[in-house]
Amino acid sequence: MAKTAIITGASQGIGACIAKRLAKDGFNIAVNYYPSESDKAKAEAVAEDCRAFGVEAETFSADVSKYADCEEMTKAIKERFSTIDVLVNNAGITKDGLLARMSEDQYDMVIAVNQKSVFNMTKHAGTIMMKQRSGRIVNMSSVAGVHGNPGQFNYSASKAAVIGMTMSSAKELGSRNVTVNAVAPGFIQTPMTDALTEEQKKAILNQVAMRRYGQVDEIAGVVSFLVSDDASYITGQTIEISGGLSM
Ligand code: NAP
Repeated sequence: MAKTAIITGASQGIGACIAKRLAKDGFNIAVNYYPSESDKAKAEAVAEDCRAFGVEAETFSADVSKYADCEEMTKAIKERFSTIDVLVNNAGITKDGLLARMSEDQYDMVIAVNQKSVFNMTKHAGTIMMKQRSGRIVNMSSVAGVHGNPGQFNYSASKAAVIGMTMSSAKELGSRNVTVNAVAPGFIQTPMTDALTEEQKKAILNQVAMRRYGQVDEIAGVVSFLVSDDASYITGQTIEISGGLSM
């Protein structure tokens, strides 16, 4: 029987690429999207691309910062696919600004979407995996969570927390054959980085040993490895995928 993977925030960017890569690897795919009409249309297109690999794929709307939404979505996915074998906690936002000017809302929103979502989804899907005695969780951190970044007090706090949650949940779930790892991308070409100014882009690339942005499939490939049988003895780790970024 095909295994099932949930990818949160999979209507575009890195999440959409991971969904398609895991479909190519043979997983049935649950494409999570933020509840909006435009995200729904994009998520449907991602699911269609996944089905082209001969697997089953369906879209599930949920605001992953909301505990009840995650509980309901996880239940619906379990009912639809019977098992939940892989969870990729990918959904994330930025609300950048220097600390002196950062509002409480900017802080709270980023923590809710990037950090609390990992609690919400790991709690619900992780419990199912523990009962199954197998599962793989991959959390999306960031180099900003490893090294810090000016203008990203909120974002780097949330992404550092993701690393802490990865290590703690790896220790809690390991005896049940559930691995939990994180990837920490550097600067990857997506709508998130397209929004930067030319000046910002130039300054960033000067810090990257490989002098180029990463591509989404370079993240998806590492996630594919971490959920594969080849990674069966790797847990609690954070892998930087940054082309040799020095911050
Ligand atoms: P993106 O293109 O903005 O995609 C993020 C996805 O998450 C979007 O589909 C977004 O939907 C969704 N999302 C946001 N809030 C959500 C919520 N509450 N519930 C469900 N879905 C939600 O960003 P990306 O670059 O692909 O980033 C993916 C992940 O990688 C994020 O966790 C990000 O922090 C991390 N990352 C990215 C980079 C990079 O260089 N791009 C570097 C390091 C880490 P909407 O479009 O409706 O907001």
